[in-house]
Amino acid sequence: MERNKRRALVIGGGLAGPMVGLALRKIGLEVTIFDEREAGAASLEGAWLTVAGNGLAAMRILGVEAAVRAAGFPSEAVELASGSGAVLGRVPLGVPGADPPTHTLTRAALHAVLVDAARAAGVAFVHRRCLVRIEEGDEVTAHFSDGTQASGDLLVGADGIFSAVRRVIDPDAKPPHYNGLGNVGGFTPGADLRLPEGTYRMVFGKRGFFGFTVAPSRNGVPGDVWWFANPPREAALSRAELARPDAVLREELVQMFADDVGPMVPLIRGARGALVATNQHALPTAHRWTKGRVVLVGDAAHAASPSSGQGASLAAEDAVELARCVRDCPSIEQAFARFETLRRPRAERIIAHAARYESRKAPGPIGVLVRDRLLPFVLARTAKDAAGLAWLHEHRIDWDASASPLEGDDMHDREEKDTKLAMLAMGWSGWGSPVGLAILLTSLGFLLMCVGHSGLF
Ligand SMILES: Cc1cc2nc3c(=O)[nH]c(=O)nc-3n(C[C@H](O)[C@H](O)[C@H](O)COP(=O)(O)OP(=O)(O)OC[C@H]3O[C@@H](n4cnc5c(N)ncnc54)[C@H](O)[C@@H]3O)c2cc1C
Repeated sequence: MERNKRRALVIGGGLAGPMVGLALRKIGLEVTIFDEREAGAASLEGAWLTVAGNGLAAMRILGVEAAVRAAGFPSEAVELASGSGAVLGRVPLGVPGADPPTHTLTRAALHAVLVDAARAAGVAFVHRRCLVRIEEGDEVTAHFSDGTQASGDLLVGADGIFSAVRRVIDPDAKPPHYNGLGNVGGFTPGADLRLPEGTYRMVFGKRGFFGFTVAPSRNGVPGDVWWFANPPREAALSRAELARPDAVLREELVQMFADDVGPMVPLIRGARGALVATNQHALPTAHRWTKGRVVLVGDAAHAASPSSGQGASLAAEDAVELARCVRDCPSIEQAFARFETLRRPRAERIIAHAARYESRKAPGPIGVLVRDRLLPFVLARTAKDAAGLAWLHEHRIDWDASASPLEGDDMHDREEKDTKLAMLAMGWSGWGSPVGLAILLTSLGFLLMCVGHSGLF
């Protein structure tokens, strides 16, 4: 069979799926994306996210960087404040002066850019097809819950953190774990907040964590305030709890931030539309990423907690690397094995980096007290060490270099060595996202609370 006539089946049309579609079209494959939901449904979920410099650089290779940047706005710094209103410090988001800087945009806008570009590149989309089974012979065949099926030369599982493809290739795979936090995001118009452009403000409330930024004004109309809240909870909310009426959810959030200094309460009350609550999960990297002609990408393979701010960016890198491997390796199986070799160390490093900053609870009174005194020093040091984030944000893939094991080994060895050294040295210097920073600091508070309760304070 001619290499460039190979047919790829991609399961999942969220963020990773369309990017894999773009990358595989770039090397001449026919690509069909199957998603269990209606067209456009994926874009309705979640409010907004950040795409880091490394993700934008990968998106440049896919030809969508400019459109993604145009759909969002640059975000360059995070200010931390306590629930009592004290400003604790300011740290850069990523490496100061990096090109491209982290961008903030709605999930809907990002999804629309990726899907439009994929369609324009010739990727076919089939909706309302839920993968239930995979069969391998000369070809790989995807079976869907409605009894239909599709065959191709390779199958990419881009079906997210609760991946069915992952369960098929590894029935013993551990499920994702709830990380102790919920998430609610919103957009509030007409709030007159004096926040420098491109800055996030993160507030350590007494009972929950809150972050916000102001979108730039367009055509003289002031931008909305984009915000999120992370209510800490022992157990994940049930389906019924997640679906409780908007007024109940809003009131719960208002109570959570009622005793804190800051614009949280009016922002929650004034948000457009119905608020949506979600649980946050993370997947410590899957044991198996590939089996035969099947491979996992994006959250299906490695879902760092949202605190990493890297999910979309890692998916973009995956797409580019996967296409390089398929282009340069002699067989699909070798290409997928090579892909895992190239990607796993970096994905695991980012997951470890984010996991350090997870927290299960908001700090208690002692933790808050100590945190608010220590943080200014910690933040000053972090601001000074921001260049230490280069491994994360300045990762660049050389599209023209060969991904074949023989020709690419030197580069990979270097990267792996660098990863191991950095894992050892990983410390306060690396914070991937505003949410990551938030959770790091919440963790610090919690840790100090524990020390306080242990009698040392
Ligand atoms: C609260 C929160 C905040 C976040 N913030 C950020 C951030 O700031 N920056 C960032 O980069 N990342 C962030 N992330 C992570 C980011 O959203 C994910 O990493 C990203 O969506 C992963 O893309 P994906 O395509 O792998 O999975 P998804 O986007 O989840 O897409 C999976 C798709 O697969 C489909 N599907 C699932 N099962 C099947 C099946 N059996 N058959 C067919 N189709 C199926 C689904 O319908 C869906 O469309 C955040 C996540 C959360 C929850």
